[in-house]
Amino acid sequence: MKAIVVHEFGEPEVMKLQEVADPIPGPGQVLIGTRAIGVNPVDTYIRAGKYGSRQFPFIPGFDAAGVVEAVGADVRNCRTGDRVYTSAQGAAYAQKIVVEQSRAYPMPERITFVEAACVGVPAATAYRALFQRGDAQAAQVVLIHGATGGVGTAALQLARAAGLRVIGTGGTEDGRKLIQRLGCHVVVDHRKSGYEKQIIDATGGRGVDLILEMLANVNLAKDLEMLAPNGKVIVIGSRDKIEIDPRLTMGKETDIRGMTLSRATPEQLRSIHAALYVAMELGIYLPVIAREMPLAEAPAAHRAILETHEPGNLVLIP
Ligand code: NAP
Repeated sequence: MKAIVVHEFGEPEVMKLQEVADPIPGPGQVLIGTRAIGVNPVDTYIRAGKYGSRQFPFIPGFDAAGVVEAVGADVRNCRTGDRVYTSAQGAAYAQKIVVEQSRAYPMPERITFVEAACVGVPAATAYRALFQRGDAQAAQVVLIHGATGGVGTAALQLARAAGLRVIGTGGTEDGRKLIQRLGCHVVVDHRKSGYEKQIIDATGGRGVDLILEMLANVNLAKDLEMLAPNGKVIVIGSRDKIEIDPRLTMGKETDIRGMTLSRATPEQLRSIHAALYVAMELGIYLPVIAREMPLAEAPAAHRAILETHEPGNLVLIP
């Protein structure tokens, strides 16, 4: 099969498309013939060597969708021919991938492979941030600080469906139009100076109950000012350090909570993907596609996800 292989950490061009041996499913494992592969910011951190060590060579990527081509012994959840998506622990940038059966999630009929390839990391992160770490409740106000990307567009749809009032931010006109279309109640430009006042005013001065933060190193200090009493910031993304005044958490008894999808337990993952299945089946949540690119263009996709601001998710086609 063809796969993107990384032989050393570095710039996107260290990723090379090459011929490698097909993987073989062992007991409890499933072989998926991929039809679409989701690109996530974390793929770029791993390729650049900013996210722990790796054994070389390796195939990067977490998210893919496709058709089950073979199953190992003791596989009960899947059969050959099933349409599934996965969020694996690597090796997704390939024409075939082997995953544990617990990580082969069924696709609702209405969902395409391209859409399903954007669920594993982005939507699962959005769900965990909102409901497992954020304890989101209907009628609360959530600020999705970075609502236009893969995680943000999923969080926005899931929060709306759960009855929250949603304030979303975007840095481009296209992104803001998109989140307006997806049902964001209040849309704000996070590149405009003083936009925090617009957010606080939209809550009648009370502040927001919950913030899903995509760029904490830029925004955490502002977030603490925008929270309502007992509010929470869920730190989803952060790319550097930031100085904050801890006193800001005291008067309103607010919380800063980190989150990482990789700490979700098997039971939590089962719960997340059961909820996402229904949300997709009912059309409550549909992944937003920014662009499809051939697998060979993985280096360009890695540059695009960090440097351009295309709303939605980038997808590679193997
Ligand atoms: P993405 O698709 O590249 O989207 C990035 C988002 O960040 C866009 O909405 C972008 O808005 C927004 N952004 C840019 N500048 C901003 C600013 N100054 N203030 C607020 N938002 C800003 O990435 P993603 O997949 O949604 O992931 C978002 C972040 O979460 C990334 O850092 C990623 O590494 C992280 N993440 C963490 C986990 C976890 O387990 N903790 C899981 C998945 C992702 P514009 O483009 O409109 O400016």
